[in-house]
Amino acid sequence: MHDVSYANKIVAALVAQGVPKGAAGRAVVKVSLSPFSHVKPERLKETARVIAGSEGYQNMALEVRTASFTISCSSCGRESEHREAVFSCPHCGSTSFNLKPYEEFCIDSVENKEG
Ligand SMILES: [Zn+2]
Repeated sequence: MHDVSYANKIVAALVAQGVPKGAAGRAVVKVSLSPFSHVKPERLKETARVIAGSEGYQNMALEVRTASFTISCSSCGRESEHREAVFSCPHCGSTSFNLKPYEEFCIDSVENKEG
């Protein structure tokens, strides 16, 4: 049910940005979704479309990008940033590394396209 809570956050962001409801309300929302999230981008788009639509934001366009994450290598101590699954440290090839804390979902921007 994470997709619903993410969609509700998107609606809250539209309200916070003062995007008008109804036909005049045009907005582009950009969000990041962790590759480790159980929510798939298509699922989030569909849920957000339904929930935002039911709140009066029929013209909301959602762009979902894959959030990057950082691993910290246990062997060489270096960190590296990734957007796709990683199986070894890109610096030394070690398979011993830790995943740094990350956000599963983040709203990057809300563009109010009113008028
Ligand atoms: Zn390393």
